[in-house]
Amino acid sequence: MRILITGGAGFLGSHLCDYLLSMGNEVICMDNLITGSIDNIAHIHNERFKFYKYDVTEFIYVDGEINFILHFASPASPIDYARYPIQTLKVGALGTHKTLGLAKHKKASYLLASTSEVYGDPLISPQPEDYWGNVNPVGPRGVYDEAKRFGEALVMAYHSVHKIDTRIVRIFNTYGERMRLNDGRVVPAFIPQALTGEPLTVFGDGSQTRSFCYVADLVEGIYKLMCSDCHTPVNLGNPEEMTVLEFANKIIEITGSSSEIVYKPLPQDDPKQRRPDITKAKQLLDWQPKVSFEEGITKTINWFKQRLNKI
Ligand code: UDP
Repeated sequence: MRILITGGAGFLGSHLCDYLLSMGNEVICMDNLITGSIDNIAHIHNERFKFYKYDVTEFIYVDGEINFILHFASPASPIDYARYPIQTLKVGALGTHKTLGLAKHKKASYLLASTSEVYGDPLISPQPEDYWGNVNPVGPRGVYDEAKRFGEALVMAYHSVHKIDTRIVRIFNTYGERMRLNDGRVVPAFIPQALTGEPLTVFGDGSQTRSFCYVADLVEGIYKLMCSDCHTPVNLGNPEEMTVLEFANKIIEITGSSSEIVYKPLPQDDPKQRRPDITKAKQLLDWQPKVSFEEGITKTINWFKQRLNKI
């Protein structure tokens, strides 16, 4: 296939580029590099790969046929969407519109990277796909949550009106190599803190929960979703849930760090619990995460060790 991936120089996007190339596809990667980085794709030397620095909220022109479009472009961490609120809204709304228009023109299949954030601060746990969520549209996370919710609605409309072959993946917290050091998320915050002996900054009392999926598992799930014919949203994530404080202690233990824990104020609208119900992915895609937390986090810690040595 000839595949266009937006946000292809980001954390998830670059892993997808690698995976899709390894399966023999041609990959066209677009990214405006406001939160993505050339470093993430610098290792790719492949004649089936092309990179264009481009803002996909503008009209997109691509020569030749395109068989699949993956729309992964978006700032994805709370501090990034606080820094780029309008770009976050535009890429989730206008970027989805532009990429869907291209899919219609090229008769390509289409996959939208959506998010567990469509569930907001969920009142039920685990979250199944038919839960409608508890989102504050005007809070600090609203720009991301509402853009992705609008994006999902637009994808469903293009599917029903224009008969585009679409998919929607709701991605839960994912970690691994190539997370950006200063993106403010908990994994790239805690690991470098532990490795450099700085205190780990736990927000609130650390009782809020998250469920962390290793990137290789997620990429495999996305590929299985691409190959399926499921048009309604599918959760992908690891249902193994832990509190942020438990997570901090595990990082200290696995790195053998002498770091302490300090408590910082809980950001506004920080979800109290998050855990995917993956029954649908298991049944429809025969997918579930395979990589244990210890294995995935050890690989990620080793990658951060190398990064820190280079800086
Ligand atoms: N968090 C924390 N310390 C940090 C960064 C994040 O305690 O230095 C907490 C944050 O408040 C949230 C959880 O870790 O409860 C996950 O945050 P992240 O930004 O990774 O993503 P989120 O799941 O909130 O989108």
